[in-house]
Amino acid sequence: MEVKTKKSKEAKQGVLKRIAGPVVTAVNLDAHMYDVVKVGKEALMGEVIKIHLAVELGPGLLTSIYDGIQRPLAVLVDKMGNFIERGVTAPGLSHDKKWTFKPLVKAGDKVEAGAILGEVQETNIVHKVMLPPNVKPGVVKVIKSGDFTVDEIICVLEDGREYPMIQRWPVRVPRPVKEKMNPTIPLITGQRILDGLFPIAKGGTAAIPGPFGSGKTVTQQQLAKWSDAEIVVYIGCGERGNEMTEVLTEFPHLEDPKSGKPLMERTVLIANTSNMPVAAREASVYTGITIAEYFRDMGYDVSLMADSTSRWAEAMREISSRLEEMPGEEGYPAYLAARLSEFYERAGLVKTLNGARGSVSVIGAVSPPGGDFSEPVTQNTLRIVKVFWALDAKLSQRRHFPAINWLNSYSLYLESLNDYYDREVSPEWNKLRSWAMEVLQKEAELQEIVQLVGSDALPESEQVTIEVARMIREIFLQQNAYDAVDTFCDMTKQYDMMKAIKLFAELAYAAQIAGVSPTQINGVKSKNELNQIKFIKDYKPELAKIEKEMDAEFTTLRSAA
Ligand code: ADP
Repeated sequence: MEVKTKKSKEAKQGVLKRIAGPVVTAVNLDAHMYDVVKVGKEALMGEVIKIHLAVELGPGLLTSIYDGIQRPLAVLVDKMGNFIERGVTAPGLSHDKKWTFKPLVKAGDKVEAGAILGEVQETNIVHKVMLPPNVKPGVVKVIKSGDFTVDEIICVLEDGREYPMIQRWPVRVPRPVKEKMNPTIPLITGQRILDGLFPIAKGGTAAIPGPFGSGKTVTQQQLAKWSDAEIVVYIGCGERGNEMTEVLTEFPHLEDPKSGKPLMERTVLIANTSNMPVAAREASVYTGITIAEYFRDMGYDVSLMADSTSRWAEAMREISSRLEEMPGEEGYPAYLAARLSEFYERAGLVKTLNGARGSVSVIGAVSPPGGDFSEPVTQNTLRIVKVFWALDAKLSQRRHFPAINWLNSYSLYLESLNDYYDREVSPEWNKLRSWAMEVLQKEAELQEIVQLVGSDALPESEQVTIEVARMIREIFLQQNAYDAVDTFCDMTKQYDMMKAIKLFAELAYAAQIAGVSPTQINGVKSKNELNQIKFIKDYKPELAKIEKEMDAEFTTLRSAA
């Protein structure tokens, strides 16, 4: 329904989008708080009680560094220097820059909401220029080609509606999609403990706690660099200034290993330190996810990292207390859980309005004060997200990297990803993973005994288990982010490595039954060479050689037993 709203003398037309009893939502309305507006044909009297922050979406987003309300930091620095004063505004997109627009529709074509009208080569990423969501279908009358600013009209429909490349979207409203699909494809990260044991699906949600020095930054950078998402949105939400500085100085220098170009070419950074306005900090998470959804709508896989959601929740708490709302647990507003789940629910694998497949995967860091996981933000987050990567300061102290605890972490996507792994990796993979998890759990039980009475007191077969578990940890789980080869490990290599460890296990148990002692088994030389495989690019010949040697060594041991 289209309605007219009157504001002072001039008539400004907004469009009603939603009616819920006495509350109506309108878009494109030029209004201030508490303005009186007339709603509908009967001109019912209404009052503006809430205005949603909207962001600008269009070419120019990539490579940008914004604050929480989409002010480009570089532009602010130009205007103000290093100290941002109050009341400075700057548009999210450059309104002067010309982009070369290449149309993909022609006059006479029928177009619906979300339709792709054409393309702009933004960086090495092709920016799809779309008809906004929530508009009526129409027929293209004029479609232009050439160089335009984001404000110039590039498409006119037969009914007279005109569209530039820019769209505006209220950040707290999820952008509509045709259909949400079950996430059944993993987001491949090239990190063995993630892909191998605790995978996140494309369109999935994960939480990662961030004890200081445990490798949170390295893990996030690895995800940004290597995960098979085309676009990265990184929200630095209210971390201490110096931590954000690290992100701001390091990110622009990161190289995209896939293209050899700067990673920023497919990244949007949103940076809010805890000394920036609290409202901007609170908004930053919404600004980020709206930008992520916009790229998803073009048919891209987007990974969004929010660091940290705890600071975001604190901003919410601060605003709530200023509003004198009734506090809930630990002073957080009663709607904390609802807000967190609204945010994570915007992740997903979707069929976009134009029929493409796109996804937003959300990885939220939590930084509970004092590492106390029982506090409300962590607890509510764990209830919502489907993957938990438990970074563990103790592991990083032992220099076990990535310091993700294999006993406390989990992924609830395992079942829905089984088919993918079956098909794309190996029909053996899922069994192999369960086996590895069992060995690691068994090791944890055995460790308690070992600590009391020493490993010699264990039955011989369990001494073998201890050795196999060590190999899984040191060969498979440990991965060096700074090694040119080991930094990324594809699924085939992950499978081959795990299979080799399993081969050792089978040979070792058989030998133990045949009377070979655990000391002799631990002395098998070829198994030590397995650890080198991860550092070798074309590892297959070397791996085959080691497997053959292993077989030969065990044959000798068995015949001597
Ligand atoms: P945090 O951000 O949690 O404070 P960092 O990500 O800066 O911690 O990691 C601290 C240090 O741990 C790094 O400087 C690096 O030496 C080491 N580290 C973390 N993860 C890895 C990894 N995957 N491979 C190698 N070293 C790592």
